[in-house]
Amino acid sequence: MTSPARAPQKRLFVKTWGCQMNVYDSARMADVLAPLGYAPVETPEDADMVILNTCHIREKASEKLFSELGRLRAQKEATGGRMVLAVAGCVAQAEGAEITARAPFVDIVLGPQSYHRLPEMVARASRAAGAVIETEFPTEEKFDHLPEVSAPQGPIAFLTIQEGCDKFCSFCVVPYTRGAEYSRPAAAVIAEAKRLVAQGAREIALLGQNVNAYHGEGPDGVTWSLGRLLRELAGIEGLGRLRYTTSHPRDMDDDLIAAHGEIPALMPFLHLPVQSGSDRVLKMMNRGHAAADFLRIVDRLRAARPDIALSSDFIAGHPGETEEDHQATLRLIEQVGFAQAFSFKYSSRPGTPASAAPLHVPEAEKDRRLQEIQALLRDQQVAFNRSRLGMRIAVLFTGPGRHPGQVAGRSPWLQPVHAEGGAELAGRILPCEVVATHPNSLAARILELPFGEARSGDPPNQEKAAA
Ligand code: SF4
Repeated sequence: MTSPARAPQKRLFVKTWGCQMNVYDSARMADVLAPLGYAPVETPEDADMVILNTCHIREKASEKLFSELGRLRAQKEATGGRMVLAVAGCVAQAEGAEITARAPFVDIVLGPQSYHRLPEMVARASRAAGAVIETEFPTEEKFDHLPEVSAPQGPIAFLTIQEGCDKFCSFCVVPYTRGAEYSRPAAAVIAEAKRLVAQGAREIALLGQNVNAYHGEGPDGVTWSLGRLLRELAGIEGLGRLRYTTSHPRDMDDDLIAAHGEIPALMPFLHLPVQSGSDRVLKMMNRGHAAADFLRIVDRLRAARPDIALSSDFIAGHPGETEEDHQATLRLIEQVGFAQAFSFKYSSRPGTPASAAPLHVPEAEKDRRLQEIQALLRDQQVAFNRSRLGMRIAVLFTGPGRHPGQVAGRSPWLQPVHAEGGAELAGRILPCEVVATHPNSLAARILELPFGEARSGDPPNQEKAAA
């Protein structure tokens, strides 16, 4: 008896730079190539196809890409040119022509909205003499044509609900590389969330470059906001936790703020980039809000959900930023008190308005300002972590810890947690006591009487009870 014909097994290596949205996209590219017989491998050596999924936000993004391509060129030559080499993501979108000119051995260049076309592009690349390029913006088409998520992501799963951005901040390439805002229909998001939960997800993080601008078509034909979508998702049986990232202060509407008080499964932690504490700089950045607007949103979030903790992004040394502006940023940080935050030195992105702006801040000055911002944020993070000492919290365990006999997980505030226990606890949300705190993590003891234990699937409201 002969076995049914199967596509021959080929090895696929995907290298991902950048944010969770790129990680999500890399997984979807692997999904879309699976029917062609491609199975993921951990290293590029001997891979039949390598995809470099790039991020334009990171500093020196194209230099990193070209140095990686230089390494892969030798590998491709060693295979007699058979290895398929693809460059995806935002750098591909923004610099497609330069990539094919500087690295003519690249077979495929595709922007973030073309991943569903990969199989067809692989076939075309095997016939074509030059690179196959797709850098258009048909976002709706992409989501309609991608296959269902196949590989389980584990207890914490990511789900892209929105892409692109219309806000055109002075320093950012996203509107140019990902195109205009597009929200997936709510029914597609809900169906994907249910599949993720069926595959073992206990926490889902909704992703979007501007996630709280979500305005997807609801199953009732009405446009749903993010607040409405979160309420619906919170009802999925077995889903214990919800988060969303990344948000813009301008889109923190009343309904979304209220949702933080009404949905226990919505974790008391929000990443809300403010970038600067100076109104003058915020205006130059084209952020569309003042520092006081951000502070008001924080107050309202805290009123709705008193245990909420905040994270943010800061840019030190945007063109035109003065010492006074920098001091305003330090004051805002002091006023808010962040649980954690990301801060970067301004670095120019070609094609963005800020890159052409006058009065670039000298490097040494940017360094000094960044150090001051980071020192303050570090102190706040340490203080926040210390404030959890002795607290009873719910921890979602995700897998083995770094040391034998340890299990790792996440607190409601996204802090890494480790406790004594076995990896079989992965996927469980358990009550723990915080027994030690570190600058970047917590140590916890699993309590004897788990309040989720008696129930099938820990109910969402255990989070609030525990915090
Ligand atoms: S809102 Fe965010 S994604 Fe959009 S332009 Fe500004 S920084 Fe970029």
